[in-house]
Amino acid sequence: MQQEPWDVIIVGGGSAGLSAALMLVRARRRVLVLDTGAPRNGVAAHMHGVLGRDGWSPLELLERGREEVARYGGVVRAAEVAGAAPEVADSNRALCFTVTLDSGERLSARRLLVATGLRDELPDLPGLAEQWGTGAVVCPFCDGWEVRDRRIGVLATGPRSVHQVQMLRQWSPSVTFFTNGAELDGDDSAGMLARGIAVETRAWASVTADEAARLSGIRLADDAVIAIDAIFLGPRPVPNDALLTGLGAATAPAFGDGDWVGVDPTGRTSIPGVWAAGNVVNPGASVPIAAGAGSLAGMTINSDLIEEEIREALAG
Ligand SMILES: Cc1cc2nc3c(=O)[nH]c(=O)nc-3n(C[C@H](O)[C@H](O)[C@H](O)COP(=O)(O)OP(=O)(O)OC[C@H]3O[C@@H](n4cnc5c(N)ncnc54)[C@H](O)[C@@H]3O)c2cc1C
Repeated sequence: MQQEPWDVIIVGGGSAGLSAALMLVRARRRVLVLDTGAPRNGVAAHMHGVLGRDGWSPLELLERGREEVARYGGVVRAAEVAGAAPEVADSNRALCFTVTLDSGERLSARRLLVATGLRDELPDLPGLAEQWGTGAVVCPFCDGWEVRDRRIGVLATGPRSVHQVQMLRQWSPSVTFFTNGAELDGDDSAGMLARGIAVETRAWASVTADEAARLSGIRLADDAVIAIDAIFLGPRPVPNDALLTGLGAATAPAFGDGDWVGVDPTGRTSIPGVWAAGNVVNPGASVPIAAGAGSLAGMTINSDLIEEEIREALAG
């Protein structure tokens, strides 16, 4: 293990992690970003709703971010983190953590930021995974404009799907809600009827594609195919939070689905010295929101280090 610990190790080099790194390296902190290079929106060719970068490739944004962090002396390494644990405190440094890579290599840091994002768990519908990020997407704000006035299908995947289908009516007059055999609540059904949203209650069987592998429709259990140009759905968000829970970070039921690691508004977890930002603690964070959370976490981690340095200076 190296002698001098990093000031901050950031696990995850997406929008949240790299934004935090940028703040910290500009504050002259020694920062290491460890990243497996699989950002959630890496499946999409373009991103939208990102001020000043609307329509850019998500991977190009992160490439630019890595260059910016490196310009100030930050180190971004391709590596998978397998675990993290607090080191025994010594008299000089109140806090220190050991980070273990999947290779077995161990690294040391005074503070940790976990920005490992989440996994989108898709419903079991043959052909859907092949369309994920192109023909099948999650966020109307991100991808609605591109399919305005086209034939849009919304899959009923949870309670929020009713709101999602009503939102998408803003983008197109041709919207179909696929319930996969479920009957709709009377008020929901009336609201859709009133706004011209078609409701398809037959069970779904598969997603169909044309010869160029582009989405063409949804095949139902009776073999009927409803032609559509885009699918919107709400996949189940599963946070990549094993590092945080392994450290003992407190979780609570949140976002209507399962337990999530809790953070304060700056990204501070219940474990002193450990922060988290972006989709790993907030499934609703778009690229700008994740970047903002990472940026704020970076600034707060810097303040926390200053507090420690004051204590050390006073102790002589
Ligand atoms: C199909 C799709 C399209 C989208 N389009 C848009 C859009 O147009 N506009 C928009 O604003 N948002 C969009 N989003 C949302 C966007 O993906 C997220 O807002 C953003 O990725 C969140 O950033 P993050 O840094 O929290 O996580 P991520 O970007 O997912 O980054 C997490 C990083 O951590 C790494 N990692 C994970 N575990 C480890 C580990 N153990 N060790 C080391 N590294 C690890 C991953 O490889 C990844 O690089 C879209 C999402 C999807 C699914």
